[in-house]
Amino acid sequence: MGYHITRQNRKTIAIHVDEEANVIIKVPKYLTLSEVNQFVKKNESWIKNRVHQQMVMKQNNDWRMTKKILYLGEYINILIKPCVYYKTQVILANGQLIVEPAVGSTDKDVGQLIENFYKKEAKEILTVMTQQYASLLRVKYNKITVRKQKTRWGSCSSKGNLSYNIKILCASREMIEYIVLHEVMHLKYFNHGKDFWKSIAEIMPDYKERMNYFKQFGQNFII
Ligand SMILES: [Zn+2]
Repeated sequence: MGYHITRQNRKTIAIHVDEEANVIIKVPKYLTLSEVNQFVKKNESWIKNRVHQQMVMKQNNDWRMTKKILYLGEYINILIKPCVYYKTQVILANGQLIVEPAVGSTDKDVGQLIENFYKKEAKEILTVMTQQYASLLRVKYNKITVRKQKTRWGSCSSKGNLSYNIKILCASREMIEYIVLHEVMHLKYFNHGKDFWKSIAEIMPDYKERMNYFKQFGQNFII
Protein backbone atom coordinates (compact mmCIF):
# COMPACT_ATOMS: atom_id res chain seq x y z
CA MET A 1 0.00 0.00 0.00
CA GLY A 2 1.47 3.33 -1.04
CA TYR A 3 1.21 6.50 1.03
CA HIS A 4 2.72 9.95 1.41
CA ILE A 5 4.15 11.18 4.68
CA THR A 6 3.91 14.84 5.67
CA ARG A 7 5.82 15.99 8.69
CA GLN A 8 4.07 18.70 10.63
CA ASN A 9 4.13 20.55 13.93
CA ARG A 10 1.67 18.25 15.61
CA LYS A 11 1.45 15.83 18.49
CA THR A 12 -0.56 12.99 17.01
CA ILE A 13 -0.67 11.06 13.74
CA ALA A 14 -3.58 11.68 11.39
CA ILE A 15 -4.56 9.68 8.34
CA HIS A 16 -6.14 11.49 5.45
CA VAL A 17 -7.53 9.95 2.27
CA ASP A 18 -7.97 12.66 -0.33
CA GLU A 19 -10.48 12.87 -3.18
CA GLU A 20 -8.17 10.98 -5.53
CA ALA A 21 -7.92 8.19 -2.92
CA ASN A 22 -4.30 9.04 -2.10
CA VAL A 23 -3.30 8.22 1.46
CA ILE A 24 -1.58 11.03 3.33
CA ILE A 25 -0.16 10.35 6.77
CA LYS A 26 0.40 13.50 8.80
CA VAL A 27 2.97 12.86 11.48
CA PRO A 28 4.79 14.76 14.21
CA LYS A 29 8.29 15.91 13.20
CA TYR A 30 10.15 13.77 15.73
CA LEU A 31 8.61 10.42 14.72
CA THR A 32 10.97 7.96 13.02
CA LEU A 33 10.12 6.26 9.77
CA SER A 34 9.84 2.83 11.40
CA GLU A 35 7.40 4.24 13.96
CA VAL A 36 5.31 5.64 11.13
CA ASN A 37 5.38 2.35 9.26
CA GLN A 38 4.34 0.53 12.38
CA PHE A 39 1.39 2.85 12.83
CA VAL A 40 0.33 2.37 9.22
CA LYS A 41 0.57 -1.39 9.52
CA LYS A 42 -1.60 -1.35 12.62
CA ASN A 43 -4.27 0.67 10.82
CA GLU A 44 -3.91 -0.97 7.44
CA SER A 45 -7.39 -2.48 7.21
CA TRP A 46 -9.03 0.81 8.23
CA ILE A 47 -7.01 2.70 5.60
CA LYS A 48 -7.80 0.17 2.87
CA ASN A 49 -11.46 0.47 3.71
CA ARG A 50 -11.37 4.26 3.43
CA VAL A 51 -9.49 4.09 0.13
CA HIS A 52 -12.09 1.70 -1.23
CA GLN A 53 -14.97 3.94 -0.08
CA GLN A 54 -13.31 6.94 -1.66
CA MET A 55 -12.81 5.15 -4.97
CA VAL A 56 -16.45 4.02 -5.08
CA MET A 57 -17.59 7.55 -4.29
CA LYS A 58 -15.38 8.99 -6.99
CA GLN A 59 -16.76 6.53 -9.54
CA ASN A 60 -20.34 7.33 -8.57
CA ASN A 61 -19.74 11.03 -9.00
CA ASP A 62 -17.25 11.26 -11.79
CA TRP A 63 -18.90 12.36 -15.04
CA ARG A 64 -16.40 10.20 -16.94
CA MET A 65 -18.24 7.18 -15.55
CA THR A 66 -21.77 8.50 -15.06
CA LYS A 67 -22.05 11.01 -17.92
CA LYS A 68 -23.72 13.30 -15.42
CA ILE A 69 -22.26 16.40 -13.85
CA LEU A 70 -23.29 18.75 -11.07
CA TYR A 71 -24.07 22.23 -12.32
CA LEU A 72 -25.48 24.86 -9.95
CA GLY A 73 -26.73 22.18 -7.56
CA GLU A 74 -28.32 19.80 -10.05
CA TYR A 75 -27.08 16.79 -11.94
CA ILE A 76 -27.30 17.33 -15.68
CA ASN A 77 -26.60 14.86 -18.46
CA ILE A 78 -23.51 15.20 -20.56
CA LEU A 79 -24.05 14.58 -24.23
CA ILE A 80 -20.90 14.14 -26.27
CA LYS A 81 -21.53 14.78 -29.95
CA PRO A 82 -19.12 14.90 -32.84
CA CYS A 83 -18.04 18.39 -33.70
CA VAL A 84 -20.01 19.68 -36.68
CA TYR A 85 -18.54 23.16 -36.80
CA TYR A 86 -14.91 24.02 -37.22
CA LYS A 87 -14.79 25.05 -33.60
CA THR A 88 -15.17 22.72 -30.62
CA GLN A 89 -17.88 23.88 -28.26
CA VAL A 90 -19.72 23.28 -25.02
CA ILE A 91 -23.26 24.54 -24.63
CA LEU A 92 -25.94 24.24 -22.01
CA ALA A 93 -29.28 23.52 -23.66
CA ASN A 94 -32.48 21.80 -22.53
CA GLY A 95 -30.91 20.94 -19.21
CA GLN A 96 -28.06 19.11 -20.89
CA LEU A 97 -24.41 19.89 -21.27
CA ILE A 98 -23.66 19.31 -24.92
CA VAL A 99 -19.99 18.85 -25.64
CA GLU A 100 -18.73 18.87 -29.19
CA PRO A 101 -15.05 17.98 -29.13
CA ALA A 102 -12.77 17.82 -32.13
CA VAL A 103 -12.46 14.51 -33.96
CA GLY A 104 -10.15 12.10 -32.15
CA SER A 105 -10.47 13.82 -28.78
CA THR A 106 -9.66 11.85 -25.64
CA ASP A 107 -11.50 11.91 -22.32
CA LYS A 108 -8.84 14.31 -21.15
CA ASP A 109 -9.59 16.73 -24.01
CA VAL A 110 -13.31 16.56 -23.24
CA GLY A 111 -12.47 17.21 -19.58
CA GLN A 112 -10.51 20.29 -20.58
CA LEU A 113 -13.44 21.61 -22.64
CA ILE A 114 -15.83 21.10 -19.72
CA GLU A 115 -13.38 22.75 -17.35
CA ASN A 116 -13.06 25.76 -19.66
CA PHE A 117 -16.84 26.04 -19.84
CA TYR A 118 -17.18 25.93 -16.05
CA LYS A 119 -14.44 28.49 -15.69
CA LYS A 120 -16.16 30.94 -18.02
CA GLU A 121 -19.54 30.47 -16.36
CA ALA A 122 -18.02 30.66 -12.88
CA LYS A 123 -16.27 33.90 -13.70
CA GLU A 124 -19.53 35.52 -14.80
CA ILE A 125 -21.65 34.32 -11.89
CA LEU A 126 -18.98 34.99 -9.26
CA THR A 127 -18.24 38.46 -10.60
CA VAL A 128 -21.89 39.49 -10.32
CA MET A 129 -22.22 38.06 -6.79
CA THR A 130 -18.94 39.58 -5.65
CA GLN A 131 -19.97 43.01 -6.94
CA GLN A 132 -23.29 42.76 -5.09
CA TYR A 133 -21.74 41.85 -1.74
CA ALA A 134 -18.90 44.33 -2.17
CA SER A 135 -21.35 47.19 -2.65
CA LEU A 136 -23.48 45.98 0.26
CA LEU A 137 -20.45 45.94 2.55
CA ARG A 138 -18.97 49.07 0.95
CA VAL A 139 -15.64 47.42 0.26
CA LYS A 140 -13.44 47.37 -2.82
CA TYR A 141 -11.73 44.38 -4.34
CA ASN A 142 -8.94 44.19 -6.83
CA LYS A 143 -9.48 41.24 -9.14
CA ILE A 144 -11.24 37.90 -9.29
CA THR A 145 -9.63 34.66 -10.43
CA VAL A 146 -11.22 31.26 -10.82
CA ARG A 147 -9.07 28.15 -10.70
CA LYS A 148 -9.16 24.50 -9.86
CA GLN A 149 -8.12 23.93 -6.28
CA LYS A 150 -7.91 20.80 -4.20
CA THR A 151 -9.03 21.91 -0.78
CA ARG A 152 -10.06 25.57 -0.60
CA TRP A 153 -13.32 27.00 -1.91
CA GLY A 154 -12.08 30.53 -1.99
CA SER A 155 -9.48 32.90 -0.66
CA CYS A 156 -8.83 36.61 -0.27
CA SER A 157 -5.35 38.11 -0.36
CA SER A 158 -4.18 41.16 1.56
CA LYS A 159 -4.05 42.99 -1.78
CA GLY A 160 -7.78 42.44 -2.19
CA ASN A 161 -7.55 39.74 -4.82
CA LEU A 162 -10.30 37.17 -4.59
CA SER A 163 -9.78 33.64 -5.78
CA TYR A 164 -12.51 31.05 -6.14
CA ASN A 165 -12.41 27.33 -6.73
CA ILE A 166 -14.00 26.42 -10.06
CA LYS A 167 -15.69 23.47 -8.33
CA ILE A 168 -18.08 25.73 -6.40
CA LEU A 169 -20.09 25.95 -9.61
CA CYS A 170 -21.31 22.44 -8.74
CA ALA A 171 -23.19 23.94 -5.79
CA SER A 172 -26.48 25.81 -6.00
CA ARG A 173 -26.45 29.62 -6.25
CA GLU A 174 -27.65 29.85 -2.67
CA MET A 175 -24.65 27.91 -1.46
CA ILE A 176 -22.22 29.78 -3.70
CA GLU A 177 -23.46 32.99 -2.11
CA TYR A 178 -22.04 31.88 1.22
CA ILE A 179 -18.54 31.40 -0.23
CA VAL A 180 -18.69 34.79 -1.92
CA LEU A 181 -19.97 36.58 1.19
CA HIS A 182 -17.25 34.87 3.24
CA GLU A 183 -14.45 36.03 0.93
CA VAL A 184 -15.84 39.53 0.47
CA MET A 185 -16.18 39.85 4.25
CA HIS A 186 -12.43 39.28 4.47
CA LEU A 187 -11.98 42.62 2.73
CA LYS A 188 -13.40 44.10 5.91
CA TYR A 189 -12.01 41.68 8.50
CA PHE A 190 -8.83 39.90 7.57
CA ASN A 191 -9.34 37.05 10.05
CA HIS A 192 -12.02 34.73 11.37
CA GLY A 193 -12.66 36.72 14.53
CA LYS A 194 -15.90 37.35 16.37
CA ASP A 195 -16.77 40.44 14.34
CA PHE A 196 -16.25 38.55 11.12
CA TRP A 197 -18.80 35.84 11.98
CA LYS A 198 -21.20 38.32 13.54
CA SER A 199 -21.30 40.36 10.34
CA ILE A 200 -21.77 37.21 8.25
CA ALA A 201 -24.70 36.12 10.44
CA GLU A 202 -26.34 39.54 10.12
CA ILE A 203 -26.47 39.23 6.35
CA MET A 204 -26.92 35.44 6.13
CA PRO A 205 -28.55 34.04 9.28
CA ASP A 206 -28.38 30.45 7.98
CA TYR A 207 -24.71 30.65 6.99
CA LYS A 208 -23.76 27.64 9.16
CA GLU A 209 -26.01 25.31 7.20
CA ARG A 210 -24.54 26.56 3.95
CA MET A 211 -21.03 26.13 5.34
CA ASN A 212 -21.82 22.56 6.36
CA TYR A 213 -23.18 21.81 2.94
CA PHE A 214 -19.71 22.28 1.48
CA LYS A 215 -18.16 20.10 4.18
CA GLN A 216 -20.72 17.38 3.58
CA PHE A 217 -21.07 17.38 -0.19
CA GLY A 218 -17.94 19.13 -1.42
CA GLN A 219 -16.26 15.83 -2.19
CA ASN A 220 -18.91 15.13 -4.84
CA PHE A 221 -17.90 18.23 -6.75
CA ILE A 222 -15.93 16.66 -9.55
CA ILE A 223 -15.11 18.57 -12.72
ZN1 LIG B 1 -12.04 32.80 5.56
